[in-house]
Amino acid sequence: MKLNIALISHDGKKPEMVSFVARNHAFLDDATIYATGTTGNKIEKEGYKVEKLLSGPLGGDAQIAALVATEQIDLVIFFRDPLDKHPHEPDVQMLMRQCDVHNVPLATNPKAAYYLLKGIKSVFPEGDYPE
Ligand code: PGA
Repeated sequence: MKLNIALISHDGKKPEMVSFVARNHAFLDDATIYATGTTGNKIEKEGYKVEKLLSGPLGGDAQIAALVATEQIDLVIFFRDPLDKHPHEPDVQMLMRQCDVHNVPLATNPKAAYYLLKGIKSVFPEGDYPE
């Protein structure tokens, strides 16, 4: 089964997201990637095929939360910017809450995301991820 991964980054963290996906083709190339609009545009430029949703402030985080709630996402990588304010903070909180409600792994910084991807690969080396 292919992993369904959601990638989101706040504006102040987009350079880190671009550098993260550029460094982690080995983990991400065989996944189905969902992303909020602007993050998705940047990830596409790194050579990935991306299922793009709305931009975060316009509802993209809420759309990803809905995918998490309906168990269509296996893990979420969300590089939040803790040093900035966000008009869609309620959607951000909702997305993180839905990850916990549905036991979906959530990484909010590059090291956590790397260890999560590496861990999943080592636990399921053949890509036989559990449903
Ligand atoms: P963006 O949305 O990728 O469209 O910028 C991310 C966010 O701000 O939550």
